Amino acid sequence: MSNTATIDSMEEFLAHALALEYESVERYDELADVMEVHNNTELEELFRKLAGFGRLHAGEVESHAADMSLPEILPWEFKWSDVEAPETGDSGETHYLMTAMQALRFASKNEIAGRDFYQSVADTSASRQVRDLAAEFSAEESEHVAMLDDLISITEEDRPDWADDPDPPHMPE
Ligand code: ZN
Repeated sequence: MSNTATIDSMEEFLAHALALEYESVERYDELADVMEVHNNTELEELFRKLAGFGRLHAGEVESHAADMSLPEILPWEFKWSDVEAPETGDSGETHYLMTAMQALRFASKNEIAGRDFYQSVADTSASRQVRDLAAEFSAEESEHVAMLDDLISITEEDRPDWADDPDPPHMPE
C-alpha cells in the first residue's frame, strides 16, 4: 500500500500496531531459536529480549483495544509500504553464522522501521488520540533503538568475510 495513506481511526491504528508487534515477535523468536541450535547464546539472549519487548508492547496494544473491535486488515491493505510489517526485517538478511554486529544492525534496522512507522502516524493522523498514542509507541521504539545503538558502540566491527569459511570441512575419501 501507499505509505502516504493516513491512519485516522484508533481501531485501524491498533490493528496495525498489533500486526507489527506480533510479526516482530515471531521473527525474533525464530532468530533466537536458530541461535540456540547453533549455541550462540549471546545472540539468542538478545533476540529473546527483543521478542519480550514486542510481547509487552503487543499486550499494551491489546489492553488499549479491549473494548473495541479491531478491523481485519489483509496484508496488502496495511498502510505501510513493504509487504512485511516494518519491524520484522527481511529474513534473507539473517544467517546462523551472522556475527554479533550483523545481528545488532539487523535488529536496529527493524526497530528503526517500527519507530518510523509509529512516528509517521504520530505526524500525520487526523485523530489527536491516535497521534498521541502513536507518539508514545514511537518513543518506546526509540528506546529499543538507543539500546541497540549502545550495544553496537561496544561491539567490535566484524571482518568483512564473515560468511566465508576459510577452512571448509573435508569430505572423507
Ligand atoms: Zn521495539
